[in-house]
Amino acid sequence: MSSRKITILGGGQAGLQLACGLLQKGYEVKVVQNRTAEDIRTGKVMSSQCMFDAALQNERDVGLDFWGKECPTVDSINFVVPAPDKPGHKTIDWNGLLERPAQSVDQRTKYPVWMKELERRGGTLEIKEATIADLETYAASSDLTIVAAGKGDIARMFERDAAKSPYDKPQRALALTYVHGMTPRPDHSAVNFNLIPGVGEYFVFPALTNSGPCDIMVLEGIPGGPMDCWKDVATPQEHLARSKWILDTFLPWEAERCQKVELTDANGILAGAFPPTVRKPIGRLPSGKVVLGLADAVCLNDPITGQGSNNASKAARIYMDAIVAHGDKAFDEAFMQATFDRYWNYAQFVVGWTNALLQPPPPHVLNIMGSAQAFPVLARRIANGFDNPPDLFPWFAVPEEADRYLQQLAA
Ligand SMILES: Cc1cc2nc3c(=O)[nH]c(=O)nc-3n(C[C@H](O)[C@H](O)[C@H](O)COP(=O)(O)OP(=O)(O)OC[C@H]3O[C@@H](n4cnc5c(N)ncnc54)[C@H](O)[C@@H]3O)c2cc1C
Repeated sequence: MSSRKITILGGGQAGLQLACGLLQKGYEVKVVQNRTAEDIRTGKVMSSQCMFDAALQNERDVGLDFWGKECPTVDSINFVVPAPDKPGHKTIDWNGLLERPAQSVDQRTKYPVWMKELERRGGTLEIKEATIADLETYAASSDLTIVAAGKGDIARMFERDAAKSPYDKPQRALALTYVHGMTPRPDHSAVNFNLIPGVGEYFVFPALTNSGPCDIMVLEGIPGGPMDCWKDVATPQEHLARSKWILDTFLPWEAERCQKVELTDANGILAGAFPPTVRKPIGRLPSGKVVLGLADAVCLNDPITGQGSNNASKAARIYMDAIVAHGDKAFDEAFMQATFDRYWNYAQFVVGWTNALLQPPPPHVLNIMGSAQAFPVLARRIANGFDNPPDLFPWFAVPEEADRYLQQLAA
């Protein structure tokens, strides 16, 4: 058993999962978190956090799946494009079953329990808004210091990687609405993914929150368009009403499911925007000491593909395996770069796919998404691509490859 000391700034999906995993392997671990468990549990929702099987498996592998039985499953992806010239009609509508279900446990439910579990496993939890000066202290007294602060300002200490970050402005106006009382879809559950050309996206799926099973509505509005409509919303009830207005206006089949919905709680809402940003993984402190960035802190994606928590889980797993494999050797810059690169070998596909979906779809993507209606095998492959985005490449990205694949399917 090693007694090496690891400090992790940020107790979210990545930080807590990594910390609990390392504790299991005998490391001495401290997590610094800027909110108490109670702050998180009673605070605002932060995400829709739909996680697919490979990411859930990483949680199961480190003994952190406490909600597997209780949390509703998401069994498929259902993709819809409304007909632009025929209100109330769909031009594309297909369903692809997931090989294994996805699940979404509200981070307000999950993180407080994981914080307790961290301490139960012998980890140290410090509640504090950590600064660069604090990082100096942690780096001086730890074998390795990791920054997993998500969208926290401190992540700006990592230099933006312009070559990997095509956008410098938010690409969507985002909103979340957590509700009880939505009519379930027939057959099986799904992420219902509605793409409204030129307007934005709406996706919705079952989840588990503090007050039990719920549905999470995710609204992604193209800036300046009709779904970029949150600035004048003052109260939770207005937020719910605005969410329903969007469905009434663009997606009547979704509005129909929402006739009896009510907010899970006054904090079951969120509105905001941020630019997707990849940063260089090594942060240099004024003293010259270095720290390693993890998950959203250095690889922040728009939620359009629902990948951030999945990425965080996968990054935490890769970092944990790398730390353990490194044995007693120094966690130097070479280790940090190699560890991030191992993650980037995977994450580059997620970033490429996610950033592509933020653009108006090029003809070959329209062709793929339309053809999935005729070829169930293609629908299933796209659906399961949410669990394993590298499988969408190269055919989702390269027009000739898309043509070749579609011809193969037709044959
Ligand atoms: C609208 C929306 C919808 C989303 N939907 C999905 C989805 O369906 N599926 C999916 O996979 N992902 C989704 N995501 C993304 C996902 O929530 C994040 O990518 C994921 O939580 C990132 O995990 P993390 O550990 O990197 O950061 P976080 O989970 O954000 O954790 C970071 C932690 O660090 C703490 N912190 C920050 N600064 C400091 C500091 N200075 N000192 C101490 N602590 C600090 C924060 O309080 C927080 O607890 C969504 C995001 C948004 C905004």
